[in-house]
Amino acid sequence: MKIGTLINELEGKTIKLGPHVFSIRLSHQPLVTNGINAAAWFYPGGEEFAIDVEYAMNRSTTHLVESLYHELVHASIWAMRLKIEGVEEEELVECLGRAGIGIFVDNPWILPWMMKGLK
Ligand SMILES: [Zn+2]
Repeated sequence: MKIGTLINELEGKTIKLGPHVFSIRLSHQPLVTNGINAAAWFYPGGEEFAIDVEYAMNRSTTHLVESLYHELVHASIWAMRLKIEGVEEEELVECLGRAGIGIFVDNPWILPWMMKGLK
């Protein structure tokens, strides 16, 4: 799938996480926080995920999916009010994000199978 198509499919989508419903904003302004630019950002105060369209367009579809999944892990920690001690949140999110994506990529049958059981 082309990156532009993948981005366009996010238009108008929301992500429900527990009692929260996050909107997805397609931004045409750079998303820079603490001097770091990324394809996706999670903004807990506004309950939204933002996608930097121009940044994402210059990268792979894999990068966009990994970026949004990474932000979903951050959002999960925030939504579940998980207290983390002894490890930096970013380190934990990197680990869980990469592990989760790795499971999905290496086992392409597993997401469709899980969804059949969750409906
Ligand atoms: Zn992060």
